Amino acid sequence: MRTVPGRTDHVVVVGAGLAGLAAALHLLGAGRRVTVVEREPGPGGRAGRVRLGGGYLADTGPTVLTMPELADEAFAAVGDSLARRVELLELHPAYRAWFADGSRLDVHTRADAMEEEVRRFAGPREAAGYVRLRVWLERLYRAQLRRFIDANFDSPRQLVHPDLARLAALGGFGRLDARIGRFLRDPRLRRVFSFQALYAGVPPARALAAYAVIAYMDTVAGVYFPRGGMHALPRAMAEAARAAGAEFRYGREVTALPRAADGRIGAVRLAPPGGSPGDGEELRCDAVVLTPDLPVAYRLLGRAPRRPVSLRYAPSAVVLHAGTRRTWPGLAHHTLSFGDAWERTFDELTRAGRTMSDPSLLITRPTAHDPGLAPPDRHLHYVLAPCPNTAVGPPARAWSELGPRYRESLLETLEKRGLGGFGASVEEELLVTPADWAGLGHAAGTPFSAAHTFAQTGPFRPRNLVRGVPNAVLAGCGTTPGVGVPTVLISGKLAASRITGARSA
Ligand SMILES: Cc1cc2nc3c(=O)[nH]c(=O)nc-3n(C[C@H](O)[C@H](O)[C@H](O)COP(=O)(O)OP(=O)(O)OC[C@H]3O[C@@H](n4cnc5c(N)ncnc54)[C@H](O)[C@@H]3O)c2cc1C
Repeated sequence: MRTVPGRTDHVVVVGAGLAGLAAALHLLGAGRRVTVVEREPGPGGRAGRVRLGGGYLADTGPTVLTMPELADEAFAAVGDSLARRVELLELHPAYRAWFADGSRLDVHTRADAMEEEVRRFAGPREAAGYVRLRVWLERLYRAQLRRFIDANFDSPRQLVHPDLARLAALGGFGRLDARIGRFLRDPRLRRVFSFQALYAGVPPARALAAYAVIAYMDTVAGVYFPRGGMHALPRAMAEAARAAGAEFRYGREVTALPRAADGRIGAVRLAPPGGSPGDGEELRCDAVVLTPDLPVAYRLLGRAPRRPVSLRYAPSAVVLHAGTRRTWPGLAHHTLSFGDAWERTFDELTRAGRTMSDPSLLITRPTAHDPGLAPPDRHLHYVLAPCPNTAVGPPARAWSELGPRYRESLLETLEKRGLGGFGASVEEELLVTPADWAGLGHAAGTPFSAAHTFAQTGPFRPRNLVRGVPNAVLAGCGTTPGVGVPTVLISGKLAASRITGARSA
């Protein structure tokens, strides 16, 4: 494994999102002095928190927490533990799926409970298919994790390993929906185990079957909810890092990375606090971990890697945060409301560049497990609607007019699908659109970064070492292994190991 040469005593981590915090904890554990610089007033990044009027506390980003052991690994690096700092609840069911024909399925992560539920829902043949699918998902995960996900790549040649043959034998290089179809015939069940491809930014018909690893994470390995909301996780990581000696500089934007003659970054330049005039200050450092989105990182580095084809970005999302006077007993903590359309939906999102005409939505109700996130007798609902990014669909400026109209159509859909009176029950709300994601500097107005096409995955994804800048390492969702809470936690660890030389496993 290639590592950062020379002195690496003081590392500046740019960004206090989950990747930056994981990197900081692993670096601290390896004895480095760490300073974390974050432009926002607190930690979290995309796993942020917004306070709506009346005292509603809404998570702005991820709501589905899987693989918490990866967060625990980061805490353990400094002798701390996730359990000591965050109370995790395992969700049963992990999801509830509502289908267009009115049928409903609870997605359990316990094998026996899910087999039983599939039998009730679609009969014994599908239940037997589910049991085989689960075994396949477990094998697929084992074949991939250490070699292809939790791995620092220096060359595509690293792929040549017996695990590659294992992955091929498991059908990992076929298409996801076709592979799931070998286990399950019921189209509704097939959706439940393939929609996750969208998390990777690729329609199930085009995604590699290897991406079923995401279905493993959220239908087999377990879905968790931290009491206090998802934002409790980055907050706890920041507290653990501070307790282990990290210095945090919040509300400070990194504007430049001055370099020495040998190409090394010698310091990190910060804008003056609160937009005040002046030149800001420079923090001297031996190495830098950069976690902002790729365009920001490349701008700071003054270079972008040459790629034969420019990056393709994942679809974006509209999120409606609604503080409501009531809730609906049919909703679980996470409810997937599938439209009838499927192929057409992915086509609208990734090719035609239109909002979904028959939307599939993720509705999260965090107050199901933590009523403290809303005022007494009130509820929080988070409705996530995938939408085209601004490269394929409407440009960011169009959303000022499109956003309110789309909100209306979302409310109409929710009301038609069993949440009667939703609109009238809304007391406080916030609508987040691609224009907001673009405003945060996210390329193509999507918070989900570069899509996980084959050409943008593993050794083909932008690498975490930067050619020509020997002491800069990238972390976060734009680099390896990719988008999502588990993967960015791994990316932080991988970045740290580029600096410390520690093996990642
Ligand atoms: C709406 C939404 C829903 C999601 N749902 C899920 C989910 O359910 N499950 C899941 O696993 N994943 C989900 N994700 C994806 C997951 O949240 C992200 O992949 C992950 O949080 C990204 O972390 P990061 O550290 O790479 O980036 P970020 O969190 O963006 O961290 C980068 C940090 O760098 C800071 N920064 C940027 N530029 C500068 C600068 N110049 N100077 C200083 N600081 C700077 C930013 O403010 C930010 O804090 C979701 C994301 C979103 C937005």
